Amino acid sequence: MKIYRIADISSSNDVIYVNKEDYDGNFWGHSWAIDVGITGTLHFVVNASSESEAFDELIDYLEKKMPEELIPIVKEPKLGDEDEERWIRGGNHGRYMATPIDEMQIKEINYTKLHKKQVNALKNKLGSFLADHFVTTANDIETALYWFSRNFSTEPNSELYNIFKTSKYVPGWKETVDSETELVKQMYGLLEDTFTLNGMLSIPSSVDEAIENNLTLSKLKNEALQACISRGHNMGVWDDHISPSGKGTSFNTCVKCGKEVMVDTNPPPNGIDIGGEAVALSCKPEYEMATPEELKRELGIG
Ligand SMILES: [Zn+2]
Repeated sequence: MKIYRIADISSSNDVIYVNKEDYDGNFWGHSWAIDVGITGTLHFVVNASSESEAFDELIDYLEKKMPEELIPIVKEPKLGDEDEERWIRGGNHGRYMATPIDEMQIKEINYTKLHKKQVNALKNKLGSFLADHFVTTANDIETALYWFSRNFSTEPNSELYNIFKTSKYVPGWKETVDSETELVKQMYGLLEDTFTLNGMLSIPSSVDEAIENNLTLSKLKNEALQACISRGHNMGVWDDHISPSGKGTSFNTCVKCGKEVMVDTNPPPNGIDIGGEAVALSCKPEYEMATPEELKRELGIG
């Protein structure tokens, strides 16, 4: 549930928010997207009033927070460093960022470019998805969407990013989703389960599809569960194998007899969406006949 993970940042496409306490206040009035490095590019978002101040903020941040091997921040270029004249100097200590300027890109993030309509459309979709699953209020939905969009938006200019950027909800700057009520945390959890995989967001354009697939999945699970219960089974917890788009299969096993049921949101042609012994056969534990050896062992006389 973190925005950035310093430890594995080199292998991640996450956006690193440099001075994130300023997001809600928008004190500086401008935000900048800075990409660093040719391969395994790191993406930073910095709030600052100008391009050069954005680099100052970034250099201070890197000096304090970044593992040195990723982007070295140095006091002085060493004699013979060929790239030195292309390094950027800045920050409170006037340090150099040991990455050639031509391996960096900076551009202003223009929030007004994104049509409000698109942002609202996505927000409404996610909001009604939550309203379908929880007895809740508009404020709780706003709060859950705030944290979800803040923690999972990876594109600074995306619709999802703009949901928290333009949200009415303003948390205290030390708060996280864990400071919220149990209900909000559950709503956040459902968004996370439905629209992310391994901490990565599923493609926002597939939100419609993911919502539909998720509804299909809950519907299938319900139907399957009813069928199993009517056969006397006592089913356990679903084991989901679901893609970020919500497509996939889920399994459940009767805790009394071990018979299985499987649901598939995307069955092959002529395949079935609900199947397994638990929907076809009644609950009756099946004992296997023990061999004489097993019986002796069991009785401690082997
Ligand atoms: Zn059973």
